[in-house]
Amino acid sequence: MNHIRSDYDQNKLTIILPNDETKPINCSLCPGNENMTNLSIVSLVAKDGMLQRLQDSADNYIINWTIRIFESSNPVVSTKVDELYSDSPLYMEPAYGYHYIVVASSKHEETFATISIEQWSNIIVILQDRLRWLYTKKKSHM
Ligand SMILES: [Zn+2]
Repeated sequence: MNHIRSDYDQNKLTIILPNDETKPINCSLCPGNENMTNLSIVSLVAKDGMLQRLQDSADNYIINWTIRIFESSNPVVSTKVDELYSDSPLYMEPAYGYHYIVVASSKHEETFATISIEQWSNIIVILQDRLRWLYTKKKSHM
C-alpha cells in the first residue's frame, strides 16, 4: 500500500510506492518482450555448459538469453552523421559512434551488486567482443 512520508529536508510530503508497484508491467528489457526493442546483435545463451553467441532475426527472437545487446532506438551518437566541423565560435564535430544497450541479466530484480561472479565474467567477455569489433570499425572509418 502507498503511504505518505514527511520530507524534512524539503519541508514537504512525499507519496511512497512499495517496490512491487514501481516495477513496470511490460519491461522492454525482460525476457518475452524482445519484440519491444531493436533486434539483438548478440544474445548470449548458456546451453550444455557452453556459451552461444546468437542473434535475433525479424522472424526469430532468441529466447533463454543470459545477456542481450541491441542498438538503442534513441541513440546519442550515430554512424549516419553530417560532416559538420567547426572551430568558431566553439569547437564542434559530428557525434559519431555506436550506441548499444547491454542487458546484463535476464532477471529484472537483479542489480550490479547481486549479479553472480559467473555472470560478471560473461558480461566482461561479451563487452570485450564488442570492443574488439568497434576497433575494427575505427580503422575503416579513419
Ligand atoms: Zn525488466
